[in-house]
Amino acid sequence: MTQILNIIGGGMAGSEAAWQAANAGLQVIMHEMRPKVETFAHRTGHLGEMVCSNSFRSDDHEQNAVGLLHWEMLQADGLIMKTAYKHRLPAGGALAVDRDPFAQSVTAALTAHPNIRIVYDEVTTLPDDGHWIIATGPLTSGALADAIKAETGAEALAFFDAIAPIVYHDSIDMDVAWMQSRYDKGATEAERTAYLNCPMTKDQYEAFIDALLAADKTAFKEGETAGYFDGCLPIEVMAERGRETLRFGPMKPVGLTNAHQPDQKPYAVVQLRRDNALGTLFNIVGFQTKMKYAAQKSVFKMIPGLQDAEFARLGGIHRNTFLNAPTLLDDQMRLRSRPNIRFAGQITGVEGYVESAAMGLLAGRMAVAELTGRALPPVPNTTAMGALVTHITGGADAKTFQPMNVNFGLFPPLEGVKSGRRGRKERYKAYTDRAKIDWSAWLEQMLLDAA
Ligand SMILES: Cc1cc2nc3c(=O)[nH]c(=O)nc-3n(C[C@H](O)[C@H](O)[C@H](O)COP(=O)(O)OP(=O)(O)OC[C@H]3O[C@@H](n4cnc5c(N)ncnc54)[C@H](O)[C@@H]3O)c2cc1C
Repeated sequence: MTQILNIIGGGMAGSEAAWQAANAGLQVIMHEMRPKVETFAHRTGHLGEMVCSNSFRSDDHEQNAVGLLHWEMLQADGLIMKTAYKHRLPAGGALAVDRDPFAQSVTAALTAHPNIRIVYDEVTTLPDDGHWIIATGPLTSGALADAIKAETGAEALAFFDAIAPIVYHDSIDMDVAWMQSRYDKGATEAERTAYLNCPMTKDQYEAFIDALLAADKTAFKEGETAGYFDGCLPIEVMAERGRETLRFGPMKPVGLTNAHQPDQKPYAVVQLRRDNALGTLFNIVGFQTKMKYAAQKSVFKMIPGLQDAEFARLGGIHRNTFLNAPTLLDDQMRLRSRPNIRFAGQITGVEGYVESAAMGLLAGRMAVAELTGRALPPVPNTTAMGALVTHITGGADAKTFQPMNVNFGLFPPLEGVKSGRRGRKERYKAYTDRAKIDWSAWLEQMLLDAA
């Protein structure tokens, strides 16, 4: 008997998952609540609607991790990418699209597919049986979010992301910064040196506060802030409350001795904490912000030690429903407590249209393998797909988990290539070359298994 796969949500992830599963012969039932139930960001009833920017970001598959993800999805017959190229607009190196024709094409392709039935209705409870993918995105409806929360516990489902900027470790000047936990706390050497510290003099601190206050900021959307301010404040809001607030908050200098200048007490200290098991990424602790991206780059580069910082992602605070995926999902993106339910898309803790579609592609293929009784070869973590899914289902620190864009810091380092800014071009090319070989081999293996 043909297996049935139910998918909740027809956005980037749900549409891609449906396409992959239906093409592999599963019968797919998609449940999409729009246009009956609306969100504050969507405008149409189309599947695959882009809620804000019309860009899938860089299309450079040799030098950019998101461009590589485009490439990998195209190799896997990805609907979102194929359709994006069909509706491409001139945008330099970015893949920008004509958004309405794009979403209309995605809708038409899924509607016309003989193996897909689309039900336009809101799902409000967690299904008890059958095979399901939940891909309801950052604006998952309230009733379903409550049902998920009842299953996972409130602390494992977030309604806002508060993203601190993430810096590539090899772009930090360690002649200025040093590793030390406050008061050298910790049972092991690794714990006693868990934080990376950047010291500031009084003048540097005052200039930093001035820059924070003057920086360009993004406003919250109407209805977006409910329930947020009791959580974590943006650093610029802390600075507005008083020039010393940060020095008594995330930038307090106590319990730390500058390893390079032990006699000079820093006036303030910015701390960074390891963000992934590989140790290639560090987040700036407590620095969630609504500053615009260009402003963030110039303000954060004022921090001594970060003058040449390269950012794997910049900070932000948004309405965003997402799971603590490292604790809740297994490596097949299934809910550990209910393995008949997979999650896909932004709700799994990835960030962005491309990353969400990518996780839809994988979830769709994982469901096909499971429902047809085949073992899926592990997705190589040397590919953009594999690096991302490995991060959310285990590589990330569950305690500080926040949504993640794809970036080269998630990839296992390569032996024999130059680190630092000077070796970057050669290093990124080596990462993408390796990824292309491994992704092609993975797809080939799936074809052989299916034959
Ligand atoms: C305001 C805002 C602006 C953003 N801007 C950008 C940007 O510029 N660039 C970028 O790359 N990313 C942006 N993002 C992130 C973006 O939402 C995601 O990257 C992407 O759309 C997520 O894909 P998804 O498939 O996980 O969710 P979505 O694309 O949102 O799809 C989820 C679908 O599930 C449906 N749904 C929800 N609950 C239910 C239910 N109970 N039953 C049935 N259907 C349901 C929704 O109607 C929706 O169609 C933005 C997010 C928000 C909230």
